[in-house]
Amino acid sequence: MADNQNPFNNFQDKNNNKPKKKIGFYWVYIILVAFFIGSIVFNGSGSVKETTMTELSKMLRDGDVAKIELVNGRTAEIYLNDQGMRKYFPNEKPHSFGSSPNYKLNVSEDRLYTKVDEAQQGMANPIEVIPVERHNWGVEVISWVLPLVLIVVFWIIVTRRMGGGAGMGGGGQIFSIGKSKAQLYDQEKDTKTTFKDVAGLEEAKEEVMEIVDFLKNPKKYTRLGGKIPKGVLLVGPPGTGKTLLAKSVAGEANVPFFSISGSDFVEMFVGVGASRVRDLFKQAKEKSPCIIFIDEIDAIGRARGKNIMSGGNDERESTLNQLLTEMDGFGTNSGVIVLAATNRADILDKALMRAGRFDRQIYVELPDLNGRREIFEVHMRGLKLAGDVDKEFLAKQTPGFSGADIANVCNEAALIAARRNKNSIEKQDFLDAIDRIVGGLEKKNSVITQSEKKVIAFHEAGHATTSWMLEHAHPLVKVTIVPRGKALGAAWYLPDERQITTKEQMFHEMVATLGGRAAEQIIFGKISTGALNDLEKVSKQAHAMVMYYGLDETIGNVSYYDSTGQQEYSFQKPFSEKTAEKIDAEVSKIIESAYQEALRILQEHKDGLTQLAEKLIDKEVIFSDDLVAIFGERPWKTEERSFSRHKEDQPENTTIA
Ligand code: ADP
Ligand code: ZN
Repeated sequence: MADNQNPFNNFQDKNNNKPKKKIGFYWVYIILVAFFIGSIVFNGSGSVKETTMTELSKMLRDGDVAKIELVNGRTAEIYLNDQGMRKYFPNEKPHSFGSSPNYKLNVSEDRLYTKVDEAQQGMANPIEVIPVERHNWGVEVISWVLPLVLIVVFWIIVTRRMGGGAGMGGGGQIFSIGKSKAQLYDQEKDTKTTFKDVAGLEEAKEEVMEIVDFLKNPKKYTRLGGKIPKGVLLVGPPGTGKTLLAKSVAGEANVPFFSISGSDFVEMFVGVGASRVRDLFKQAKEKSPCIIFIDEIDAIGRARGKNIMSGGNDERESTLNQLLTEMDGFGTNSGVIVLAATNRADILDKALMRAGRFDRQIYVELPDLNGRREIFEVHMRGLKLAGDVDKEFLAKQTPGFSGADIANVCNEAALIAARRNKNSIEKQDFLDAIDRIVGGLEKKNSVITQSEKKVIAFHEAGHATTSWMLEHAHPLVKVTIVPRGKALGAAWYLPDERQITTKEQMFHEMVATLGGRAAEQIIFGKISTGALNDLEKVSKQAHAMVMYYGLDETIGNVSYYDSTGQQEYSFQKPFSEKTAEKIDAEVSKIIESAYQEALRILQEHKDGLTQLAEKLIDKEVIFSDDLVAIFGERPWKTEERSFSRHKEDQPENTTIA
């Protein structure tokens, strides 16, 4: 992704053996000129005199004509006999017939036949018109070749325009348009990126460690028949270090690294994407073991056939299909591993995620306080700092910043200090740099003010506290107030793997979901718009309880659920107005009592709630351990369940805001 600090970005094959390719162009011009000259030379009849129909009629009447040929049904060529030659070309030596015509006449076929017949009426040996087909190869070839040449020239111009210096050679050469534009970083030649350059992202690093291990020593795994993932999807917002992570995997394993952006596959020419994919994998296999990194894979991997209206997506689809084919095609032991980055895993085609493709996903989130401090550390390595620079403090000043933003802050601070003619970069320079970056970020809407942060912290703490206190609510695993996507905070729960949910369980879940808003109400005395997601979820759940599952006493064991799905298209409700009113009343009754329950729990544990929120403001992330420290162990023992860190991060299990 776009990053200016990247030392690799300067690497580009600028002098892409241009001179050699130029010769190719000159050939085109030479062939063109040759055809022009050829056509003129071959067009031998250029010197023949023109005549008129009247003249020809006269010649025929006088018996001066030896032969008339009608060439290609268009041009009459007239050959004179000895008598005619003497009459019309007295100075020329008489020559044998048929060598070349003496006159020509452009005339339509019909007219020629009629006029010739007319002129020779009643004559003993009338001259007959002889039709001939004659090809002027020069002209004909030109008429074929010229449009082709024009198309090719146009193509060259267009690709040059589009290439605009981007990527390897950027088009330029017509013959390489189907070649992949991947940049290759060779570990011997280029600066190496290693895990040392990647701050934070401990979990992600751990996950990719296995890949590094495999690339370093493939035999160790293949010997036992183990299968190493072919593809790994890095999911996370821009600037969080996905490219960096992929590069560091290559660096750690000391293998070549191919980098390409998904959008590079998509050109205006049909079939280019697919052939680029093919080419990329061919190149990669030659360099195996190696890593292919595809940035912005959503450019080609978006779910197929969802957007019927837009049409014309065949090209993207065929590119995607080619990618899938390639990934299926190479064996697990071929040593090529594809890492792909996206910030939206949800819009990707499910086929990409199938086993043997990108079956592993690693989440790369915005850094928390700790992460930000470490990123500052990494990027301050090369800087000359004054004594008053405190990384911890700077990390606190930059909530919601991505790794790329922090890299930017460091660079900007250095520039500001230089402009002020300082010998080292001071705290104030960093603060000014942060201000400047925040100005840019504000447009992106990801900056949180301190008071907002407090509201979010209490909101999330409200969820955490209520769910901790309710037997059937999902126990909490992790809460953050680091913004993710549109949500300002998030809480992770460990869901039960239950197939059947009781009324009580549903109710407890709703109480926990309303806990966020209830906390705002208790602490600040007012509620905010931040609970939209929660309310939506609760309303749906309450409706489902009443209308689908028959869990409400007033409505009874009735379900208005339509498993055929046809109900969606009919405008008629399957119940009366009176029932509708009753349903509405029941739904609000359920929600209201859940909300009251949430308020009650939080009132009771107001101290704990406050402690939790303060901890959250301070650390930005808290885990179940922190809850235990505040509230003590939950009285209900949850059944032994195994879960991995990786799993809990799956979006299905995530409750946001
Ligand atoms: P992405 O691919 O996720 O958009 P990049 O990997 O291109 O992000 O990151 C852009 C730049 O931001 C990197 O080159 C690096 O300088 C900086 N950066 C991002 N995340 C980190 C991190 N965790 N540690 C150190 N630097 C980082
Ligand atoms: Zn919430």
